[in-house]
Amino acid sequence: MRQQFPILGQQAHGYPLVYLDNAATTQKPERVIEAVNAYYREQNANVHRASHYLSAKSTRAFEVAREQVQHFLNARSSNEIIWTRGATEAINLVANSWGRANLQAGDEILLTCLEHHANIVPWQLVAEATGAVIKVADIRADGSLCMDSFSQQLSDKTKIVCVTHASNAIGTITPVADIITAAHQQGALVLVDGAQMVAHQAVDVQTLGCDFYVFSGHKVFGPTGIGVLYGRKDLLDAMPPWQAGGEMIEQVSFSGTRFNSLPFKFEAGTPNVAGVIGMAAALDFLQQFDLSQLAEHELSLRQKAEAGLQAIPGIRLVGEAQDKVSVVSFICDHLHNQDIGLLLDQQGIAVRTGHHCTMPLMERLNLSGTVRASFSVYNSEEEVERFLAAMRRLVMAEQ
Ligand code: PLP
Repeated sequence: MRQQFPILGQQAHGYPLVYLDNAATTQKPERVIEAVNAYYREQNANVHRASHYLSAKSTRAFEVAREQVQHFLNARSSNEIIWTRGATEAINLVANSWGRANLQAGDEILLTCLEHHANIVPWQLVAEATGAVIKVADIRADGSLCMDSFSQQLSDKTKIVCVTHASNAIGTITPVADIITAAHQQGALVLVDGAQMVAHQAVDVQTLGCDFYVFSGHKVFGPTGIGVLYGRKDLLDAMPPWQAGGEMIEQVSFSGTRFNSLPFKFEAGTPNVAGVIGMAAALDFLQQFDLSQLAEHELSLRQKAEAGLQAIPGIRLVGEAQDKVSVVSFICDHLHNQDIGLLLDQQGIAVRTGHHCTMPLMERLNLSGTVRASFSVYNSEEEVERFLAAMRRLVMAEQ
């Protein structure tokens, strides 16, 4: 598996690279790099626009990739799969299209305090524009979502619940199935931010029953600049277009424009065709493995890291929910987060430090930030040991 990721073979500052920043972005297997290369070498043409050989080839690959994502999420139809630039753009699409058309003064948008800024700020903007009100469900001391708080905040005023499937900052997996059932009982829709989930667990949008599900290609071994919005067909059909231009129209005249049908209504302009092809290759890559085996491997890496860090005096883990993805966040009494990041980097170990685009969560935890090590399928036990040994040395040097 590791051999398939050429970037991991390099040295960083004279040490073998240990890449533990997978929650920020994952590395790309040869298969994805090759697919993007081959696209530009053999297929490049604008999609859906011309009748020539290359355009037919790229259009076919583009639409086959859409079907692949449909199967990946188990959506009912490929018309429910909209290409976006990433999870951020997918959330902005729903906030601007569905939100502006459906929210009114006094309506409530329910978030959780685990959300990434990408699932907060678009809703703040639409709340400002419509007079809707943002409500926030709290977490428990261990970083799990507090379902009592969620139930208290949910009411018949709630029009949409926007919840992350897994926290990028502290790893908590949220009980989205329960959230969706409760929200639907109140007549609210549910958008699930799956940016941190799809690389770790199989997702079935029909079983979940969510109304919208979003994710980014680059966090699931695919290229940057490509992402997905899954939306229920009846909802997408009723939503107005968000961005306008070529591709999303059926007929244009100066007296008026008729919009294209799904999914093209939401895909204005020339899309990131190479990104789509790369994403399809990434899903091919992922689907050759047993996802539950990969999850087991990641769990053992996380548990090893957590146990090792807990044994170092002065280190405190942040976020100890029972149900987590492979993210380990921590702080250290003796060292500043940024210093830890820099000192680890000098030994070839890549982690992330700071607020992780979750400032409200950090405020709730009374922290300015954390150090985050996040593991992926290609990380090894030996890498975790190198990370722990480096942490022990740093802490001992400071005491
Ligand atoms: N949601 C979560 C939970 C994330 O971790 C991220 C990225 O870190 C995003 C949304 C935004 O993803 P992107 O920057 O790929 O649009």
